[in-house]
Amino acid sequence: MLPRRPFSSGKLGFLYVPPYRIQGISVAGEQTVVHIPELDLAFDIGLCPRPALSASVVAITHGHMDHVAGLPYYFSQRSFQKMGVGTCVCHEEIAEAIQNMMSGWVGLEQQNTPHKIVPLAPNGEYEIKPNIMLRGIEADHGVPAMSYVVLEYRKKLLEKFHDVPQSKLREIKLAGTEITQTLQLPIVAFTGDTEMGDHLCRQEFVRAPVVISECTFFEKEHRSRALVGKHLHIDDIAELLTIWGARDVVLIHMSRRTTIEQAREAIAEKIRPSDMSRVHILMDHQTNRSRYEKQMELLCDGE
Ligand SMILES: [Zn+2]
Ligand SMILES: [Zn+2]
Repeated sequence: MLPRRPFSSGKLGFLYVPPYRIQGISVAGEQTVVHIPELDLAFDIGLCPRPALSASVVAITHGHMDHVAGLPYYFSQRSFQKMGVGTCVCHEEIAEAIQNMMSGWVGLEQQNTPHKIVPLAPNGEYEIKPNIMLRGIEADHGVPAMSYVVLEYRKKLLEKFHDVPQSKLREIKLAGTEITQTLQLPIVAFTGDTEMGDHLCRQEFVRAPVVISECTFFEKEHRSRALVGKHLHIDDIAELLTIWGARDVVLIHMSRRTTIEQAREAIAEKIRPSDMSRVHILMDHQTNRSRYEKQMELLCDGE
């Protein structure tokens, strides 16, 4: 008998949550990378699967190996393929360690890999595109950890000027009066590895139309495991779904111990029926594939 071929791993999960593609790989302890091409952004980098290279910014949530291991490779490949210097945004408390890791490679490779590291203080922001800001929100995971939210800064005419004609508005503006206010609209929120906490109830999370959330544990008997590891459990997600207004909540970072079927069952048991259509599992390839096929059918019907 022939020996078996090695099983193929590293298949990217994919969801189309208009207007965003959410693609990546996320298994607790193995690797987590979630790439949103439309934002030119990846949350964590896992083992740096090839498609994630095109993200010009990587927002690292914390320093655990499964989230950060691919970072030097990311910087190196972007340089090798002439894709421009990659940028890593991270919690200010791990910036030096990341810099040290990059410096370590210089001795090994006998060359300097171009890289950019942007330390963020909690509530600090970094502009990833014009008027699109990445804000770090301190999380609680036993090590320095960030949740992130992407916000669109949109200028809006103040209400009291709504009926004023354009020419007059220009005059008022030239005279130095502020005629607009800047709205901060959350567009995507990302929990990173974290335990339950007030930071997940902040307005940025409550108002984000898309939340990508870790949910490491689903089984009843794993409730204590979630507490010890400072992770979220499906019971936490059930609670958060009553607070978050998100149209789509994408669960990631599921433990390898849990099968997709078990996760689906736990979701059906714990989540209110009216919330079921809001919840997706990034690595549920089968469900996501048929969801995508339906999206395509709807698009074809509309044409
Ligand atoms: Zn992790
Ligand atoms: Zn972790």
